[in-house]
Order: sequence, then C-alpha cells, then structure tokens
Amino acid sequence: MLRITEIKLPLDHPEDALTNAILKKLQISPEELVSHVIFKRSYDARKKTNIYLVYIVDVELVNEQKIGDRFQKDPHVMPTPDMGYHMVAKAPQNMTSRPVVIGMGPSGMFAGLMLAQMGFCPIILERGKAVRDRTADTFNFWKKRAEFNPESNAQFGEGGAGTFSDGKLYSQVKDPQHYGRKVLTEFVNAGASPEIFYINKPHIGTFKLVGIVQNIRAKILALGGEIRFQSRVEDIDIADAQVRGLTLASGEYIATDHIVLAVGHSARDTFQMLYDRGVYIEAKPFSIGFRIEHPQLLIDQARFGEYAGNKLLGAADYKLVHHCQNGRSVYSFCMCPGGLVVAATSEVGRVVTNGMSQYSRNERNANSGIVVGITPDDYAGHPLAGIDLQRRLESRAFELGGSTYAAPAQLVGDFLADRPSSNLGKVTPSYAPNVHLCNLSESLPDYAIAAIREAIPAFNKQIHGFAMDDAMLTGVETRTSSPIRIKRDQNYQSLNIKGLFPTGEGAGYAGGILSAGIDGIKVAEAVALSMNA
Ligand SMILES: Cc1cc2nc3c(=O)[nH]c(=O)nc-3n(C[C@H](O)[C@H](O)[C@H](O)COP(=O)(O)OP(=O)(O)OC[C@H]3O[C@@H](n4cnc5c(N)ncnc54)[C@H](O)[C@@H]3O)c2cc1C
Repeated sequence: MLRITEIKLPLDHPEDALTNAILKKLQISPEELVSHVIFKRSYDARKKTNIYLVYIVDVELVNEQKIGDRFQKDPHVMPTPDMGYHMVAKAPQNMTSRPVVIGMGPSGMFAGLMLAQMGFCPIILERGKAVRDRTADTFNFWKKRAEFNPESNAQFGEGGAGTFSDGKLYSQVKDPQHYGRKVLTEFVNAGASPEIFYINKPHIGTFKLVGIVQNIRAKILALGGEIRFQSRVEDIDIADAQVRGLTLASGEYIATDHIVLAVGHSARDTFQMLYDRGVYIEAKPFSIGFRIEHPQLLIDQARFGEYAGNKLLGAADYKLVHHCQNGRSVYSFCMCPGGLVVAATSEVGRVVTNGMSQYSRNERNANSGIVVGITPDDYAGHPLAGIDLQRRLESRAFELGGSTYAAPAQLVGDFLADRPSSNLGKVTPSYAPNVHLCNLSESLPDYAIAAIREAIPAFNKQIHGFAMDDAMLTGVETRTSSPIRIKRDQNYQSLNIKGLFPTGEGAGYAGGILSAGIDGIKVAEAVALSMNA
C-alpha cells in the first residue's frame, strides 16, 4: 500500500471528494485505485475564516510499484509502514513463577494483557474494586454525598486514574515501534469506535471506557491471567537486591521474581513503602494550579468562528502556554471540552480537581487545568517531598472549601482583582459534591498565584473571553503527574532492584492513558525477555 499525506479538503466536502483528490494526486484512473482507507483526519483551524480538513490515506493500487516509483521524490507519497504488532517472546514451558502486576490502570492493564497474550499467565493485583462497583462508589460520592472511600474513587480501582475521564487518547511520546497502534487496536477490539484509529485527537468518554475496561479484563482472564480486586500490596520482599515476592494488606504472601509496578501517581503509601525498602526514587517536576471553566460556546466561537457547532469539528479544545515574568510557565492541562470538573482525591480530608467528559462532550462548560510548573527546587529536601507539598495543598483546599469535600472556588474577575467571591456569575461550576466561594489566592504558594494571575489575561489574547469575569476557578489541581520517578535501567528494571519493573505515570514514565498503555507494553516485553533469558 502507499500512504498519501497532506490531502486538504473543505470541511463540507462531498463524499467522493477524497477519492477524486487521490486520483488527482497520483494522476491515475479510477480503475487503478483498488481501495483506500483514512489513516488520519485532522483539521487546520489556524485561520478561523478558512478551516479545512487534512487527510492521510492509505491506498491499494493495481500497479503500486510503478506508481510508487513515479512519486519517489514526493515527500507526501510513501510506502505504508508496517504498524502491526509482533510479539517478542513466548512463555517458556518450564515457568517456575508467574509475573505479578501491581495496579490495573492503563499501564498495568496493558502490561497484564500483553503478558497474557504471550502466555505468561500474570497475576494482576488491584487495590480498588472492579469497575462497576468502583463507579457506584465514586458517583455516589460525587452526586449523592456518600462517604468518601479512600480505596475506591477517581484514582483507585479497575481501569486506574483515567477511567472517569475524557478518555483522550493522544500523546506526544515518540513511538517508532507503533505501540500506540497496539493500544488503540486493543481498545477497538474491546468496544471502542474504530474512529479512534483515524481521528486526530480521539477520545472515548467515561461511560464507554467502563465497558471497554471490563472487556479487556475478560480477555486477560480468557488467556489464563488472574485479576484480584481489593488486593492492596503492602510490602515487597527483596533479598540480595532482587525481588522475591510481595505481601498483601490481607497478610497473604505471593512469591515471584518479576513484579510490574504500575501503581499510578497517587499511590503515596506504596511510594513510602518502596522508599523504606531502599528502592531508588528521585523527586521530579510536576505542576499545581486550578481548574478553569468557561461556556463551551465561548471556546467554540473563539476557535472556530462561524464554523462553531460543525459536527466534524465537535466541541473545541485549546492548548495554551505562557512564560511568566517570574520565570514560571503556566499551561493548560487535560482540557475537557463539554465536560465536568470532578473530585479526584484519593485521601480522606483532601480536595483535588480534575476533569472528565462523556463521549458526546455536550455538557455546558469547557474545563481545563491552568497549572504552573514546579521543580524539586521548590520543595527540596527529600525524594518524597513533592508528595508532602501535594498533601499540604490538598488539605488546605479541603479547609478552604469548608471541610465537607466542597472545592474552594472563585470567579476569574475576583481572582484577578484579589477579592473573595461571594456570588456565582453566568458560569455555573460543575464540580460535585459542591463548591465553596472564597479567595483562592490563599490556596497555592505566592509564586504560583502570581504566575496564574499573569497568564489568564495573556491567554485572553489567544482565546477571546478566556479572562471573562464570570469564568470559574476551582481548586486545587495537584495530581498533574507523578512527583517522583522510580528510575529504571535499559532493561526497564529498577536501577537498584532486579525483577522490579516500574511503569506508567506513577513511575514517572508516562503522562496519560495512551502513553501509560504504551509504557505497559514495553515493560511487558522486558519482563517476557527477562523470563526467557
Ligand atoms: C479525572 C481524570 C481524568 C483524566 N483524563 C485523562 C484523559 O482524558 N486522557 C489521558 O490521557 N489521561 C487522563 N488522565 C490521566 C490518566 O488517567 C493517567 O495518566 C493514567 O491513568 C496513568 O496510568 P497508570 O496505569 O500509570 O496509573 P493509574 O491509572 O493511576 O493506575 C494505577 C492503579 O494502581 C492501583 N494501585 C495503586 N497502589 C496499589 C497497591 N499498593 N496495590 C495494588 N494496586 C495499587 C490503583 O488503584 C490504580 O488503579 C486523567 C486522570 C484523572 C484522574
């Protein structure tokens, strides 16, 4: 097959326009074109008055070699690369112990699935509940003010942190081996729409993700894997710098020489345990800030002008960065078009924000994190000091919100003028259980407040209305990425403990669903090769 890039067509082009564009580009007759599939469809909205679609297509031709030769020097025509997944190993006949995966977020789920596909019959241990029970706990806490459960919430449980999310499936990681394609393929096999293969910025949406996670679980079980919920790993047994097993909160001991550590960025107790056991851990940069909410219509109009509401464009997103006078950078994080701000704490007496959307992205507000990058220099002293900072900010947010899990909130106009908010404006905050109006400048360090105050008006120049008085800020956003890195060597094992394979966001090697899935696959391959050695 040949791949053709940069085919530009109007937003409302007729159905046969793509075929005609292929024929024109390759200067061939309709008889010579056997078939074509869209590999990617994106849009270029840099000029609001002329938004158009950009296609990459794979074409099958009668006389492929000859036509390919003709376009050898054209950078927009090339042989279609092999993006299929090829297994690196098979489980040996004489396997003495099974690999154990700790955590069933995207990294643990894909590590487990891959190990199962290679015949290694992994045991997956997840501290939270199966996804349906977890959904009930989390939504009851959000919507019905049920008691918060520190083991079953937005962070912990089958599917991991991103289960109740927008389900954005894009990442900027380099992926020369096309592992991302394998992740998408497994999602589609488990029920996601095939459009995630070709839409430029695909997303799945919360309720669809729940079903997909269940189907991936069924596949792992059918391949001989074992999955145990409400099984928190409390200790790891290490002898002579090699893992030998682990102990669950129930006291049960499981012997194994291969542990995939896929615990996510919120497993603070587990990080402490690993540190106490001597596993090499470093502090790493992360970001802190607020969620901001605007009417989705305002974002659509700012980005798409007269094309706002176009079905192919969907609800508009944005990506913003501002470099501040005090040397800090502020950026938009995890933007959720047509979504909700959600309570994302995993600890009692703390408040953390994040965002999610359904597949339809048709809620009234757009939201995103507006966060300031911080580095270990801001909380120097200890590899786990970033966690202490997160905890302090989250406890402060809990207090500012009235100690009821309501989130502290403020109107943008009041925040910029440094006065507490007392009344809501035109933007109704979506955070559940509730918000409590206050002055958010008390919730973050002064440098962060100064940076966000400078950034919001700067963002207004790119998205007209971004600094509108009635836009809502809700705090605090602290779980943007892991505050630590559990460093690993070229074989994906901990720098100083053999048999321990840190992966995903918690280990500091991923930042999102897709990159965590990709990292899980890489680590599964490393485990398989190590068990075959
Ligand atoms: C509300 C929200 C919305 C998000 N939206 C998006 C989005 O739209 N797109 C995107 O790409 N990313 C999104 N993210 C981020 C994304 O979810 C994470 O990057 C991703 O889930 C990281 O995957 P992971 O497998 O490394 O860790 P996690 O998903 O955090 O999974 C870790 C798992 O390990 C379990 N665990 C922890 N400790 C133990 C232990 N001691 N014993 C047993 N089990 C343990 C946890 O319960 C958890 O299930 C969102 C996150 C949140 C919270």
